[in-house]
Amino acid sequence: MGMFNAGDIVKVLIPNAVNTGYDYRLTANAPTGAFVRVTVMNRPYVGVVIGPGDSGLAPEKIKPTTEVLDSKIPECDLIWIQKMAAWTMMPPGAVLRLILNVPDAFGAPRMEQLYTFESAPAVRMTDNRQAVADAFASNDNEPMSASDIQNIAHVSAAVVRAMIKNGTLAPRDFRAPPKQFVYDYHDTQTVTLNAEQAAAASAIADAIGRGGFSVFLLDGITGSGKTQVYFDAAWRAYKRGESVLLMMPEIALTAQFMDRFAKRFGAPPVVWHSNLTAARRREIWRGVMRGDIRMVVGTRSALFLPWQRLGLVVVDEEHDTSYKQEDMGNYHARDMAVLRAKIAGFPVVLASATPAAETLKNVNQGKYRRLSLTSRFGGASLPEIQTIDLRESRPVPYRISTDATDAAPRNGYLSPALCDAISQTLRAGQQVMLFINRRGFAPIVQCQKCGWVAACPDCSVGMTYHKRLSRMLCHMCGRTAPLPDVCPDCGGAVTMRGAGLEKIAEEVGAKFPAARVALVSSDTISSRQSLERIVSKMESGEIDIVIGTQILAKGHHFPNLTLVGAVDADMGLFGTDFRAAEHTFQQLFQVAGRAGRGTAPGRVLLQTYQPMHPVLNAICAGDRDAFMASDMAARRAAAMPPYGQLIALVIEGQKETTLRDYCDALRAAAPVLHGAKIMGPIAAQVYQVRNWYRMRFLISGGATAQLQPVVAHWIAKVRTPANIRVKIDVNPINFM
Ligand code: ADP
Ligand code: ZN
Ligand code: ZN
Repeated sequence: MGMFNAGDIVKVLIPNAVNTGYDYRLTANAPTGAFVRVTVMNRPYVGVVIGPGDSGLAPEKIKPTTEVLDSKIPECDLIWIQKMAAWTMMPPGAVLRLILNVPDAFGAPRMEQLYTFESAPAVRMTDNRQAVADAFASNDNEPMSASDIQNIAHVSAAVVRAMIKNGTLAPRDFRAPPKQFVYDYHDTQTVTLNAEQAAAASAIADAIGRGGFSVFLLDGITGSGKTQVYFDAAWRAYKRGESVLLMMPEIALTAQFMDRFAKRFGAPPVVWHSNLTAARRREIWRGVMRGDIRMVVGTRSALFLPWQRLGLVVVDEEHDTSYKQEDMGNYHARDMAVLRAKIAGFPVVLASATPAAETLKNVNQGKYRRLSLTSRFGGASLPEIQTIDLRESRPVPYRISTDATDAAPRNGYLSPALCDAISQTLRAGQQVMLFINRRGFAPIVQCQKCGWVAACPDCSVGMTYHKRLSRMLCHMCGRTAPLPDVCPDCGGAVTMRGAGLEKIAEEVGAKFPAARVALVSSDTISSRQSLERIVSKMESGEIDIVIGTQILAKGHHFPNLTLVGAVDADMGLFGTDFRAAEHTFQQLFQVAGRAGRGTAPGRVLLQTYQPMHPVLNAICAGDRDAFMASDMAARRAAAMPPYGQLIALVIEGQKETTLRDYCDALRAAAPVLHGAKIMGPIAAQVYQVRNWYRMRFLISGGATAQLQPVVAHWIAKVRTPANIRVKIDVNPINFM
């Protein structure tokens, strides 16, 4: 392909949800991959030249390009876009939109009124004010526009207006000069790898030196120093003039990590995530495009920066489900990184202490190479992990008031065995983490007399009582409602069943009144900054007991944390999807990895009614490999991923009859398949979300089946009515 001349008819891909390319007449010479300005139905777009035109129309009937820009996407990445589109079943234009998602990327920066955040210590820190402060902090306290503040802090225009009025937000100027990023790094040589780390680093270095595609699984226990190994690899690729992407889950972009990066490379990283101002996004995007910014630490969307010469991608915590994007197109960033590397020819490093089954299968088949780190850096020992049998050590009720005549005692969730361990730990001046993966106070609000349960009127799920809000909250759509005094159906008394984080906090307060307690969940942690505040309080010893959801499971290094208690280790064991055991194992294993990272040894206690359950046994034995082997054998027998393939179709409609009719029509048009089958339609597990009704089909086939073209052909046979949404999810993780 290569070069086109002025006057040539070329196909231009437009970044929108349906596009596969339109023909235009070039007004200047342009290489394949060049960005061009064009109009579609009189609207301006920036698109990409993807090849010669093929509409067959007379040249004079074909619109000219408006402008040929002097930047481009490398040709190999155009192939990546097409292959990614074919795999995910997203139209190529939708994939291009993931890349071209930066406002004003090619034009002059927008002129907008900017504001600074004025902290007045006398003013009370409300939740909104804190969220706005955090939004500024995540952008180095640079001035921000009103729309940035709204988008990043998730506050309304009214809140922003009020804060401008009361002086919390001070108008600064129009478009301050954008922040200059430090682009030049050097190896400070401050780190000496131990023998295992050095062996892993040198294997990756060889692959970088050789060039070409390869995938490594950096398989290291928590605290083994995986970060320093991939820093080493990053440096080698960077030094060769290539670009390096270090991808991680949002929650792992901690200050601790930034510090370590800066110590190793002499300057802080350029960070890419969803909470950046429009100006920063533009600046980073353009810097990557020009090739000035060649190393970025970012979340899954960083894979879609306009990389010019990508030479290495690291996917840290590769098992993490946050790499799967589920709205705005379905893709798995880890898999798409591997696909990209295969086409462009460079190495990928996947790092984890609990690799995903998909990855382990590729290791077993010899497609990925495993590099093992088997000991904690500096000789810290792994924690001792035990179960507490709740049938024997029965939780003791508690009262929230010391006045015994006050309220009736409440059911407890903390067993005497766990409470003893907590007391001992606190007496030793050490810290405790309690893990419960459920937000709020109580998940079920129910009438004791007639059985009525409080449910969201727009979604078919129960509402959770949140003490912090003093209201019930729908976890699907966010709707809140007051807690009824009595049952709306029969007037009977209402009780709260089950335990969330807030209820455990109440029990801890009653049983350990002197302990300083902090709660960590997505309700209290609205940004990385708010998580950092807790982390630094943990480090300085201002917290004795931290109670949290899985947010706490990752990345942090608390030297004085010696006891981790999983309040309900059974919670994930009996899920309805085939990854339930794997995910429970990963979660508990990661949580356990928080304990004993300093000099004092750690201890992990799992409360359960099923102490003989194989998942829990495997965790106690620290035997990840045996556990994964048996889990994967079961999945192989059932032809489930990674040994089989699945595509989910989620069909949503506002009118139940239209939805059912359409699903029936699809069913009737279903092809007869060999070695694959189509299941459904069934009502989705959550049948209603935000007033849309939901049905599902599941298409399953063997590991080598080519399901995508079959599904595409099938759906195309039935006309999709207006107000019906069809969502295609290749390799689904979520089965709700
Ligand atoms: P992992 O990501 O494997 O859980 P980390 O990379 O967080 O482990 O390393 C655990 C701790 O050990 C960190 O504080 C890290 O800075 C330190 N560490 C690891 N390797 C080295 C090394 N070679 N030299 C100095 N410190 C190291
Ligand atoms: Zn009732
Ligand atoms: Zn709802």
